[in-house]
Amino acid sequence: MTAEILGLDSRAVHLGRADLTAMGVHVPPIDLSTTYPLPTVDDGGQAYEDMAGGKACGEGQTAVYQRLWSPGVARFEEALAGLEGAEAAVAFASGMAALTATLLATVADGKPHVVAVRPLYGGSDHLLASGLLGTRVTWTTAEGVADAIEADTGLVLVETPANPTLDLVDLQALCERAGDVPVLVDNTFATPVLQRPLELGASLVLHSVTKFLAGHGDVLGGVVACSEEHARRIRPVRAITGAVMHPLSAYLAHRGLQTLPVRVRAQQDTAQVVAHWLAAHADVEKVFYPGIEGGDPDGLVGTQMSGPGAVLSFDMGSFDRACRVAENVQMIVHAVSLGGVDTLIQHPAALTHRPVTGEAKPGEGVLRLSLGLESPEDIIADLAKALTN
Ligand SMILES: *Cc1c(COP(=O)(O)O)cnc(C)c1O
Repeated sequence: MTAEILGLDSRAVHLGRADLTAMGVHVPPIDLSTTYPLPTVDDGGQAYEDMAGGKACGEGQTAVYQRLWSPGVARFEEALAGLEGAEAAVAFASGMAALTATLLATVADGKPHVVAVRPLYGGSDHLLASGLLGTRVTWTTAEGVADAIEADTGLVLVETPANPTLDLVDLQALCERAGDVPVLVDNTFATPVLQRPLELGASLVLHSVTKFLAGHGDVLGGVVACSEEHARRIRPVRAITGAVMHPLSAYLAHRGLQTLPVRVRAQQDTAQVVAHWLAAHADVEKVFYPGIEGGDPDGLVGTQMSGPGAVLSFDMGSFDRACRVAENVQMIVHAVSLGGVDTLIQHPAALTHRPVTGEAKPGEGVLRLSLGLESPEDIIADLAKALTN
């Protein structure tokens, strides 16, 4: 079974599982080994050196130690790489660990300058603003990328749809402006179901696996999909710093991919309905969603993205009114995170984007809503009550 001959839904179900029938099993075995028997000292030493140097475990080679390689993590990586159209993927204990390793690989390459297009996820913004990893950041807009690039720029970082404004960035145009500098796209909100940045000229795709990919609120994980060349620079950082994904998380994330296309489409359908309902509500000042009038000024839905996604934000006009809505919902859960099967609401300025400063800080009245798989009428009824409370 090859990635080329199957549709995305079929690939989501089958990738990373090609050897199961020959093994006589139907689902991937969960291997929790932290260490692996070594055939000979030389075999072990060679495998150790290969993997510490950035190669994936070779066929017939001992896996040596879980921090270097493990079969369940490799299955998830193979499947995700296949969905993003990447040669390789490298999976981590969290989305932030994935970003950290990518930035450290850039610093190790002698290119510590990062051009970052705001707005970004609050944690990514904080990590770059802190300079903790030895990076130096220039904040810019999608249009300003070419001007922001310097001789030691190692990475351009962009997120679309952006968090929490849901602004869309034209990736093809941005990648052209970045020239030879690799572009990393945080594709957490879109998922490969709606958008595949590598096809548009990006070099690396980042996901918080915690969100849509795993999809059920019970896995913390991250992944970078990229060329094998990039992967070979990122794997040694993962091996040295130890932020590898846990095999049980990999099992759950790999299972999550099987239902990803249907979940994303169903949640997106609900988001469209709820976005229009909110836009028509007298107490809502503004709805931020690429699927409503004015939300996609560059016409990227239908071209770059196959749909507007399942996350939206809306402005209640004031901090107090926003808090009342978040605190008065009943079925909807007042919690950070997104992309799971249940609808979540949160206040970005106070929570996920708390460390973000200046103009990049979201508005005080803005709430972010991640639509789940509940009946749209129940979500609307819950919001209707909370809005009039
Ligand atoms: C959650 C999130 C992250 C960070 O991922 P963690 O798994 O929480 O470390 C990065 N980018 C985006 C867009 C996110 O939503």
